[in-house]
Amino acid sequence: MKYIDLCEIYEKLESTSRRLEKTYYLSQLIKKTKAEELSEVMLLLEGRVFPLWDTRKLGMASRSVVKAINTATGIDTDKIELEWKKTGDLGIVSEMHTKQKKQATLFSQELTIKKVFSNLQKLSGMEGQGTVDMKTKLVAELLTSAKPLEARYIIRTVLEDMRVGVGSGSLRDAIVWSEFPLIIGLELSGEGDQFYFKDKEQIKPDKTIVSKSEFDKINILKIKAVGVENKEKINDKEKINDKDKGNDKELARELFNYFTEKVEEAYNITNDWADVIIALREKGLKGLSEINIKPGKPVKVMLYQKAANITEAFERVGKPCAFEYKYDGFRLEIHIVDCKNNIDGKGGVVSKCNVDNENDVDSRSKKDKTQKKIVLFTRSFEDVTEQFPDVVEFVKKYVSEDVKEAILDSEAVGFNPKTTQYLPFQSISQRIKRIYNIKELAKQFPVEVNVFDMLYHNGKSMINEEFHKRRALLSKIIDPHPRKMVLSRIIITNKEEEANKFYQNSLDAGNEGVMAKNLEAIYKPGSRVGYGVKVKPVMESLDLVITGAEWGEGKRKGWLTSFVVACRDEEGNIVEIGKVGTGIKELEEEGVTFNKLTEMLKPSIKEEKGQEVKVKPKIVIEVHYEEIQKSPSYSSGYALRFPRFVRLREDRNVNDISTLKQVEELYRGQRGRK
Ligand code: AMP
Repeated sequence: MKYIDLCEIYEKLESTSRRLEKTYYLSQLIKKTKAEELSEVMLLLEGRVFPLWDTRKLGMASRSVVKAINTATGIDTDKIELEWKKTGDLGIVSEMHTKQKKQATLFSQELTIKKVFSNLQKLSGMEGQGTVDMKTKLVAELLTSAKPLEARYIIRTVLEDMRVGVGSGSLRDAIVWSEFPLIIGLELSGEGDQFYFKDKEQIKPDKTIVSKSEFDKINILKIKAVGVENKEKINDKEKINDKDKGNDKELARELFNYFTEKVEEAYNITNDWADVIIALREKGLKGLSEINIKPGKPVKVMLYQKAANITEAFERVGKPCAFEYKYDGFRLEIHIVDCKNNIDGKGGVVSKCNVDNENDVDSRSKKDKTQKKIVLFTRSFEDVTEQFPDVVEFVKKYVSEDVKEAILDSEAVGFNPKTTQYLPFQSISQRIKRIYNIKELAKQFPVEVNVFDMLYHNGKSMINEEFHKRRALLSKIIDPHPRKMVLSRIIITNKEEEANKFYQNSLDAGNEGVMAKNLEAIYKPGSRVGYGVKVKPVMESLDLVITGAEWGEGKRKGWLTSFVVACRDEEGNIVEIGKVGTGIKELEEEGVTFNKLTEMLKPSIKEEKGQEVKVKPKIVIEVHYEEIQKSPSYSSGYALRFPRFVRLREDRNVNDISTLKQVEELYRGQRGRK
């Protein structure tokens, strides 16, 4: 595919804020993309060149981009910088100059998706002397062949700032629109218990996409036919409302919801849109259900809702249920990879098995010639195996040697090495990003791994097993060693008194509260379903990403202050919710300082106007507040009253921040209580 075809779609996406329209453009593109190019196209649509679970970065500073534009167009860097200040968008600046230059030159090589993608991917592997020059050259090479519109989006992709507003919700819906047959009629041309969807273009019998049991699930057997004649109608809600009978509209919606749910479930397992589309194309819904988790490739963790107290926890998850200590550490996904089975050829994490490293081969397994590797991920897919050699050791020692492959879900919690008392998260947060003196730091800030779930075991996904079964297996395979590796403390009860006592014990031990878990629940990656709820005494804080700040004055001169913070709407758009200035310190010994935040944010500055600075959404902080209020001042429609910085969340990235839905729920919760 030509890169310009993608850029034309970007431009259309940028030109509208209507979600349905965006979904339509995306679906058109997906439909015409061949399987061989899906991987690149889907990633580029999201403005990335590496999958979500691959933490390689492009690492190109704005200054180097200015240089690349200069190399490609011959325009003076000062002039480029000036225009950048004016427009706030180096993409537009590059487009402008490419336009002028193109009038002078005639020949240029047509850019393909493959070429752009491969040049951009190369940006990440570089290290050492001369790297900046080489990166600049790679980008300049692309710009030299680029058409003006292509130049705009090459630069924005390099700077990881696409401005086209494509969220995972639209991508998911677009896949449903492009990959499922038209819902023009529903004929039950059953053969045995199989049913087919009938498309205008006729679906061949072997393209069965829905089985009878799936039909029953969505309870549509009783509905005879739908009158949605063509896709444009499905795309446009109003038309359906106006012209089609209520029943048809409902059915279309019901089917659509069912399909989107299936697509989303599959995506939450693979974190790769291309895998989802290919599975759909090859085997329809059946293909989606066959998508499986695999040790070595991180899985989105299951999230929990909040209950106000133990009584509500019981109401939400049922009686009896499990209560566990809620540790104040960070989520750690532990993968035990059998290298023989896990080379996926995609250059992903699993391929690291080939690296000959002491850690790679468990000495016990040498005997049976199995190569086992332990890989550790944070909930935002950061590979922190190197940062936690102590945890790797624990897994090797305390997880039964019969376990050849596994994915464990756990919380790593810090403790004081002298008193063995638990410590709050910030005491160990520095270990997550550390690249030097790792062993020393591990001694200074030891962690205990509290394993609480299991997603995979010896060739078998466990996510559809009931919680009590997963937990029972866990207790068989882990040999608990306090302050090293243990199973999370658990009781199963239907008595409020007992649960409240357990809750108090947990708080006394320095934990945040308790988790209540439904005993029969499956594990749903990436979802905040009510299978488990957390109960904690402090007000729910928000994890927000910094999107802007102001240069300070007086004694705060040279520091960024007054940080604009944002959450995510359902579409994945970043929406602002307030400004945080309180809780950040001036002196290092007191905590996280303005200076520290300034240094962290500086490389991400994308625009400056007077004192105001806009930054790429990268740094996540936890924020407390007194109240959530409705407010037109911020794009979220809400504002925080008296927001206060609590801590840096180095284990989270922009994909893990609080959602607008959570904010709305918290807002309603506080109203309800009044
Ligand atoms: P929160 O971050 O307040 O939404 O609380 C959910 C988080 O608590 C999870 O993502 C885990 O990191 C952490 N956690 C601590 N202990 C447990 C436990 N026993 N079960 C599940 N999650 C836990």
